[in-house]
Amino acid sequence: MKAHDGMYIGGAWRPAAGPDVIEVVNPADEQVIATVPAGTAEDVDTAVRAARAAFPAWAAIPPAERAARLAALRDVLVARKEEIAETVTVELGSPLAFSQTVHAGVPIAVAGSYADLAATYAFEERVGNSTVLHEPVGVVGAITPWNYPLHQIVAKVAPALAAGCTVVLKPAEDTPLTAQLFAEAVHEAGIPDGVFNLVTGLGPVAGQALAEHPDVDLVSFTGSTAVGKRIGAVAGAAVKRVALELGGKSANVILPSADLAKAVNVGVANVMSNSGQTCSAWTRMLVHRDQYDEAVQLAAAAAAKYGERIGPVVNARQRARVCGYIEKGVAEGARLVAGGPGSPREQGYFVSPTVLADVTPDMTVAQEEIFGPVLCVLPYEDEEDALRIANGTVYGLAGAVWAGDEAEAVAFARRMDTGQVDINGGRFNPLAPFGGYKQSGVGRELGTHGLTEYLQTKSLQF
Ligand code: NAD
Repeated sequence: MKAHDGMYIGGAWRPAAGPDVIEVVNPADEQVIATVPAGTAEDVDTAVRAARAAFPAWAAIPPAERAARLAALRDVLVARKEEIAETVTVELGSPLAFSQTVHAGVPIAVAGSYADLAATYAFEERVGNSTVLHEPVGVVGAITPWNYPLHQIVAKVAPALAAGCTVVLKPAEDTPLTAQLFAEAVHEAGIPDGVFNLVTGLGPVAGQALAEHPDVDLVSFTGSTAVGKRIGAVAGAAVKRVALELGGKSANVILPSADLAKAVNVGVANVMSNSGQTCSAWTRMLVHRDQYDEAVQLAAAAAAKYGERIGPVVNARQRARVCGYIEKGVAEGARLVAGGPGSPREQGYFVSPTVLADVTPDMTVAQEEIFGPVLCVLPYEDEEDALRIANGTVYGLAGAVWAGDEAEAVAFARRMDTGQVDINGGRFNPLAPFGGYKQSGVGRELGTHGLTEYLQTKSLQF
């Protein structure tokens, strides 16, 4: 796999300040496929200076020109779609078809949506005797996770660039090759030097240096709640803007009037896709006690069907963590009805699609994010009980409701403490705001709401 041995800063690949490297491992066969430089605070500082230098000109060009550059970026991503999919597959492990449709396909749609929004958004509005200017915030420090490597990058960089901000990206250690490919695409799209910069490196070194850098105006972070809390504290102390997209423990609530088989099958597919490494996955399935046994059987059968089709999880540590949760669930009284903690293959960080039944709301597996192909099935007594369980975690990122009639599902969804709810299997919408209630985060990504995160207002009175 081709990898750059430098950082993309100021429009060129430059040698890293230090000698350290990060090994990139294919989680399907545990082989090292490449190395990338492990950036230091010095690299971050060089990148932030480049972003600062590029900011005034990029902020000042007409939005229509920024839109044209974003459209060019979208076109490069389209032209290199196959390469993107292959890169995600070798460093994340997801099956190639999923990499093509989701890991490559969704960022293309999102980049396109920001090309459109940059061209059409009202960056000036009239309010009574005032003109309100929506101006870019400045230099953005973007820190992204590995689970949807390109999507997480594009969901930050595209709106930031559309707004007129410049960016320094620190991608996840496990998936830096996709980030390097994105930097190449930015270059090919003719985005001016310094508008986008890439520093690969370790979270506690390069990530922390970026979050703490005094000349970064906004930190946009997606990752674990533990790291998000630290970044929020650092940003708060510096009175710096911060957007946090954190963990989740979403509930899939199946009301008695729903099509049970459909709700269970779609629910299982939702949890198993991307090997369970989706922050908004519906990892808790809530079923009325009268339908519970049937739902458990259906879920176990659906999970068993995934068997060979599922990819590995991202690394050995993640595998150990996920299997530890399965063991803990069983130790706390859950019933294993599919999968389990054993290794299904000799090589690779694979975890069997797993279903835990008889889970109670207070169990660790019902409260903490597992981030692997593990579904918990919980019975509920009545609607109030279902709502209590659904809302009974520190998280509030996503969820689903199934009912015989849409209005019934919507009435329940309105009472859920969560940032997005899919009604009877509603499709992902790349223009709808995405983000969390409670400890799932602060701020929203995607669509117009994602754009406004990168803007600040100035009011002129006449
Ligand atoms: P993580 O928090 O360990 O890492 C995320 C990013 O932060 C990486 O780039 C990492 O290098 C960096 N980082 C780590 N320590 C840092 C520090 N001290 N200072 C600055 N940066 C640091 O999370 P992960 O294991 O990569 O990702 C999994 C988590 O991300 C899960 O909890 C998942 O739910 C969450 N996630 C949330 C969303 C969302 O939109 N809400 C999306 C995807 C993933």
